[in-house]
Amino acid sequence: VAKKLGRGRIKAFSPIMQDELLARAQLEQDFQHALQNRAISMYYQPLVDLKSDNVVGYESLARWETASGKFISPTQFIPLAEETGAITELTEQLLRRACLDALEWPAHTFLSFNISPTQLCDKRLSARIVSILDEVGFPSDRLEVEITESALFLDANAARYTLKKLSDEGIKIALDDFGTGYSSLSQLCNFPFDRLKIDKSFIDTFLHNDKQDKIVRAIISLASALEVKVTAEGIEHVSQLMRLKELGCDTGQGYLLGKPAPKASRQNVVPLHAEVTFLPKIEKTN
Ligand code: C2E
Ligand code: MG
Ligand code: MG
Ligand code: MG
Repeated sequence: VAKKLGRGRIKAFSPIMQDELLARAQLEQDFQHALQNRAISMYYQPLVDLKSDNVVGYESLARWETASGKFISPTQFIPLAEETGAITELTEQLLRRACLDALEWPAHTFLSFNISPTQLCDKRLSARIVSILDEVGFPSDRLEVEITESALFLDANAARYTLKKLSDEGIKIALDDFGTGYSSLSQLCNFPFDRLKIDKSFIDTFLHNDKQDKIVRAIISLASALEVKVTAEGIEHVSQLMRLKELGCDTGQGYLLGKPAPKASRQNVVPLHAEVTFLPKIEKTN
C-alpha cells in the first residue's frame, strides 16, 4: 500500500509505515475485543447550574481501559469505531449502560450523551435510541444528546430527520463545541436545539483576551435570545467561573466543578455537589 506523492512519484514502503500499519491493525483488533467484552466503560462529569451551584445533569464520556491498564482516549477510538462500522454497536452498548446508571441518580438530573457525526446521519438511530429508552425504562425527557456541527454538514437531510424524531420524543439536543466548527448561524434556525455548549477553547483564553470575552458574551446573549440553555465547557479556574457567572451563563462544566468519574468511585451526586458549594458565592457588581 505505497502512498502516491505528487505526480506519479511513489513513496517507498518504509519500515516506519509498516510499524504504523501494524499498530493500527493491532488497535483495531483490540478494540473489537474490548467491544465484545463490554470493556468500554462510561465516566460521568457533572453539569452545574451556575445560579444555584446545583448539579443538574451529567455528561457521559466513554473510556477504554486496555488489558494492560492503559487508557485510550475517545478522540482516538470513536473515529476508529466510525471507520470500522463498530460505532453502531458501541453507541447502543454505551447508551444502555449510561441510562441504567442514570436511573440511580436523582430524578431531576439529566443524562447528556454524545452522538458521533456518522451516527446522526444514520436514519435508524432515532428508533434505536427510543427502543433502548423503552427497554431500560429511562424517561426520554431526561436524555439530552450532544452533537457537533460537522454532523449537520455530513448529510443535513438525514441529520434533520434524526433530530426531529428525537425532539418529537421529548429528547433534548445540545450543540457541542459551539463556536469551533463550521458555525453557520443558520443551523440554529434549521435544527431544534435546546442548548449551546461553548467550546473549551474559548473558556481557556477569554479572561485574557478581550475579543474572546466578547464572543463568549455574545454566545450567552444569543442563547438567551433564542431561549435555549448555554453551557460553558472546560472550566478549570475559579476566576473563569466567576466571570461566567457575571456574564449570566446558566450552566458550567469542567475539572473545577467535577472531573469525569466512574460510577463506582462517585457513589452519588452529593460529594461533587458539596465540592461545588465550597466555591465563593459571587457578589454582583453594580
Ligand atoms: P466533548 O463531548 O466535547 O467532551 C468534553 C471533553 O473535555 C471530555 O474529554 C472531557 O473529559 C474534557 N473536559 C471536561 N472538562 C475539562 C476541563 O476542565 N479541562 C480539560 N482539559 N478537559 C476537560 P474526553 O472524555 O477525552 O472526550 C473527548 C471527546 O470524545 C468528547 O468531547 C466527545 O466528542 C468524544 N466522546 C466521548 N465520549 C463519547 C461517547 O460516548 N460517544 C461519542 N460518540 N463520542 C464521545
Ligand atoms: Mg460532549
Ligand atoms: Mg463538548
Ligand atoms: Mg469539546
